[in-house]
Amino acid sequence: VTFIPPGTRPTVIWLTGLSGAGKSTVGAALTARLRRSGRESFLLDGDRLRSGLCNDLTFSLADRREQVRRAAEVAWILAEQGAVPVVALISPLVADRALAASRFETGVFAEVFVSTPLETCEARDVKGLYARARRGEVPEFTGISSPYESPLSPLVEVRTDRLSVEACVDTILDAVAALTGSSLTGAAAP
Ligand code: ADP
Repeated sequence: VTFIPPGTRPTVIWLTGLSGAGKSTVGAALTARLRRSGRESFLLDGDRLRSGLCNDLTFSLADRREQVRRAAEVAWILAEQGAVPVVALISPLVADRALAASRFETGVFAEVFVSTPLETCEARDVKGLYARARRGEVPEFTGISSPYESPLSPLVEVRTDRLSVEACVDTILDAVAALTGSSLTGAAAP
């Protein structure tokens, strides 16, 4: 590890939650905030990964696990070089997120539960997928016909139906600072 800023450990912010919970939106705002503060940051978004790096994978639980593995590997490469990857990925199973966390054993795995309730996600239906899933047109849709296991002890939980995007970002960055004792954005730790 050559490029990581002195006194910091390779760090990933890992956003898990249902489709439509707000992972991509909060993730993009997080990377923007980190960059404004002078910290390199990259978003690894589940949908974006599926269009390329993971375009050989289905939505089976085995393939979702493989997508988690690949996201964690890319995140580790970025984090080793001092960037802060933000992963926005449903990553529905506890065991799979534990696998990702194990990749960051010598770093910091900040698990964030974007815990917006299913009813809200379904009412938003950003991509129209919930309506289709309810009609049985989308097999293996998380929360409808495929499981979602909530984190047992996430670092922090944010509900985008209660907090603004920027308030979610503040909450997450404060939690990481409290965990590590140093702020990713250079602001004073709370
Ligand atoms: P996911 O990546 O979890 O599937 P998205 O970020 O794609 O979710 O979609 C979340 C939707 O909810 C977006 O349309 C976003 O504009 C909306 N939204 C409303 N309020 C918030 C908030 N406070 N934080 C994040 N998203 C919000």
